[in-house]
Amino acid sequence: MATVHTVGVVGSGTMGAGIALVALSAGARVRLCDVQSQVLDKAAADIWARLQRRVEKGELTPDAAIGLYEQLSLETALDTLADADVVIEAAPERMELKQSLFQQLDAICRPDAVLATNTSSLSVTVLGSATAHPERVVGLHFFNPAPVMKLIEVVVGEETSAQTVQAAVDVAHWFGKQAAVCRDTPGFIVNRVARNFYGESLRVVGEGTASVEDVDRLLHGNASFPLGPFKLMDLIGVDVNLDVTTSVYEAFYGEPRYRPHLLQARRVATGRLGRKTGKGFYTYGGTTQTGSDETVWEQMAQDKRTDIVRRTVVFGDTPLARALQTRVSELSGRPQSQVGLTYDRPLHDWEADAAHIRAETCREVAEQTSPEFVWLDFASDLAPARAIVQGIEQALPESTVIIASLSGPSATEQASWLTFPERLRGFATVMPLPEFDSSASGEQGAPVAAWCRPLQAKDGDVDEQSAQALLALGFSPVVVRDGAGGVVMRVLSMVLNEAIEALREGIASAADLDRAMCLGTSYPRGPVAWLRELGAGSVWQTLQACWRELGDDRYRPSPLLRQWWLAGDIVLEETQKGE
Ligand code: NAD
Repeated sequence: MATVHTVGVVGSGTMGAGIALVALSAGARVRLCDVQSQVLDKAAADIWARLQRRVEKGELTPDAAIGLYEQLSLETALDTLADADVVIEAAPERMELKQSLFQQLDAICRPDAVLATNTSSLSVTVLGSATAHPERVVGLHFFNPAPVMKLIEVVVGEETSAQTVQAAVDVAHWFGKQAAVCRDTPGFIVNRVARNFYGESLRVVGEGTASVEDVDRLLHGNASFPLGPFKLMDLIGVDVNLDVTTSVYEAFYGEPRYRPHLLQARRVATGRLGRKTGKGFYTYGGTTQTGSDETVWEQMAQDKRTDIVRRTVVFGDTPLARALQTRVSELSGRPQSQVGLTYDRPLHDWEADAAHIRAETCREVAEQTSPEFVWLDFASDLAPARAIVQGIEQALPESTVIIASLSGPSATEQASWLTFPERLRGFATVMPLPEFDSSASGEQGAPVAAWCRPLQAKDGDVDEQSAQALLALGFSPVVVRDGAGGVVMRVLSMVLNEAIEALREGIASAADLDRAMCLGTSYPRGPVAWLRELGAGSVWQTLQACWRELGDDRYRPSPLLRQWWLAGDIVLEETQKGE
């Protein structure tokens, strides 16, 4: 858009005050408008205090801070915004109120002014319909705290013109932010794609698969999220988080993927709202904040690790299997070809002949290497995967321990394929593999992986040996109950599936989805990039297995995920390159 001189901000609460500071810092004259003059005074005091902090940090000279502050004017009447190039509305989240404000702004503002809303959950299209010029109404969704967070979602209503979208993107960039453009749907990008980071974790805990502490430990220590879902809900406010979930769920007319969970609703009903009330999923200021480390085994001596990796081989057809094979090769000093056999492509049900050949080849490799520890990670369909695993088992002595990935069926299901099912244990990790840390001992921050026993398990020795095998590859095992996906792949697969479905529906591009999730909610990598690292097959098989085991429609995979898997992950790479 043409140069911005004047920005109008309507509502001077938490968001309005922050947005006003962002606009001042970019060099705009800002008219900050509110119906309550004492709230305006507080906003001005906050802005002044923040500018002073920048002066103290040496980021601004005292004169520059005064100069910026002088560009701020406090208003109580909307018609003072008549000369604004852009107006950003940050009034309370009520449709009638916002519609009435937009109707007035439409009449007051210049015809070329952009009218933006900071709404988190209301439809930009419906809001714009109250005006005579819906083509100039757009969403500029800031994240809290606005001066700190780097992302603005630019929300495109059904009537918003391309010119307005471009102007909104330009304004976001001028503010020093990054823009993610998305269509006007409930939750936009971040609040929609992130839903199952919380929702699926709540289910895992609600059904007794893992504790709150262990889910947090796995998603932080294995999948590298800066905070686990329960710590994050406590920080955001358990009630605020539930409100967003409920609003997205209702807006999608009860879509099961967004269904709220009783565990969270109970916390809200009993006032356990997180850090702000001193209690949520954790207790703050007391002693019960962190989980126990009971679930983690002892540190292992280096020579024992080396001894174990020398007797370890890997079979599979996923990026994870290939990464494990590389790790075993590096740690044991044996060439890759001698530490198992991994394929580039999982097999489908209709490739019985290829499955037969792979089963035979893997059996030969297992025979030649006669390992004591075998790691498996297959994203092939059930029938070929079962045939290959059975082929491998035929060549193994009865004492060999099998460690099977849960990116797909449960450990119990995979054990049921074996002649000696009691030798199998489940594990789950995600790609990229956490860095190998030779001092990993379950201390805070050490890489962890989920570990579980199938129902057929008997022998305590296999527990011990399989746990040692995890430690030897650099993972501290966290005990979870057996189930498809093993917590960390299950939660992550639900998040990635949501992103892929949003992409399929044309809500945003792959690049905007990735940017939004990294900047709006600090994900360690964007969901589309992450899917490429994991392989669409592993995510698809995890969701399929959850769907089969749990019988809930929320696990149905996006058709695009299946198509990517069928077409090969090359298509996925092309999608990213094209952005
Ligand atoms: P808030 O309650 O802190 O501030 C709203 C302000 O609007 C109040 O000061 C109120 O006096 C003022 N107001 C009410 N009616 C008005 C009118 N007719 N004209 C001018 N001002 C009026 O709310 P908030 O948390 O800043 O949220 C504002 C908007 O931003 C909402 O749409 C919310 O969904 C969205 N949002 C909030 C967050 C967040 O974390 N708080 C994040 C992103 C988006």
